Amino acid sequence: MTLLDEIRALIAAEGPITVERYMGLCLARYYGSRDPLGLAGDFTTAPEISQMFGELIGLWAAAVWQGMGEPSSIHLVELGPGRGTLMVDALRATARIPGFRAALQVHLVETSPTLRDRQRQVLAGTGVSPTWHDTLDDVPEGALLVVANEFFDALPIRQFEATERGWCERLVALAGPALRLALSEEPDATIDVPPRPGALIEQPHIGAGLMGTLAGRLARHGGAALVIDYGYWGPAFGDTLQALKAHAFADPLANPGEADLTAHVDFHRLARAARDAGALVHGPSSQGDFLRALGIEVRASALKARATPTQADAVEAGLRRLTDPEGMGELFQVLGLSHPHLDTLPGLRFNPLAEET
Ligand code: SAH
Repeated sequence: MTLLDEIRALIAAEGPITVERYMGLCLARYYGSRDPLGLAGDFTTAPEISQMFGELIGLWAAAVWQGMGEPSSIHLVELGPGRGTLMVDALRATARIPGFRAALQVHLVETSPTLRDRQRQVLAGTGVSPTWHDTLDDVPEGALLVVANEFFDALPIRQFEATERGWCERLVALAGPALRLALSEEPDATIDVPPRPGALIEQPHIGAGLMGTLAGRLARHGGAALVIDYGYWGPAFGDTLQALKAHAFADPLANPGEADLTAHVDFHRLARAARDAGALVHGPSSQGDFLRALGIEVRASALKARATPTQADAVEAGLRRLTDPEGMGELFQVLGLSHPHLDTLPGLRFNPLAEET
């Protein structure tokens, strides 16, 4: 049975489902059944573009660990590690920092069996033995260093449309053999933005909940986290739900489970959830500014100095794509979270969100 058949049966039995539930069903099928990354897949991410990305994030994590007083044991957690490339590059770049590797316990939060296999293969040569988990809740308690690159955009969101009745939730309903968008009868009273006729607003309930969990752990046990993704500082109006298939946009309702579904990340909502759970918030900074602050240009020069001309061109192209405004430099943002005692994080500025209610 295809996922479309399953969703049609579900709606026939229970009525229209929320966009959030639809996305959840599609993403579980999508990520569970393939490796979506790279040229042959549906999209490419920063760690797949250049080794410098994972290397600098590894050095960031080691610098935070040093700033914490070099605890003898710390969990290095990656949420949604994809092909494991970022982790391999981060571990290689930090291999010679005294005490860091010995202190690390590596945890990978990954639901896809296909990608877990891939991560197991690439990490086999690194000398660390990671532990896999389905959710962050399963990672044991203790101080944490967390990285989430292009993870929050893959979490389901809710969508609401402004009507004369107020904000009504977007639903997925049946249209003969196909699917269509619909609206809830009852308005939703929880949205704290006045409805403007025709406007659409997105609410990352699942992402904000996860952020609260993460921030609560940082506040209790110490450490810091980096969230890197494409997104905006809300509230903002507009529909950012996208389907990506073979590097092109597709109709999100057309082939459930066969295309990647994503939504832009509302960093303001995530930052507020983190602050409310007791963490300090840093940034967001643009990816370009963040990587330059961490020294990507110096790293690129060092790599080019011992490269063939072809390799040097690839290093330069990677640098440009990661940092230029025309590439990923400005659309992608970097948000930091930390334990209240860590009031600076490398490459990010403190965000005085505390003044907001
Ligand atoms: N961070 C990687 C991959 C990004 S793709 C990179 O930058 O290349 C999103 C990743 O998150 C995939 O590994 C996917 O399988 C995983 N993922 C998606 N939803 C998840 C969820 N709800 N729980 C855990 N992992 C999830």
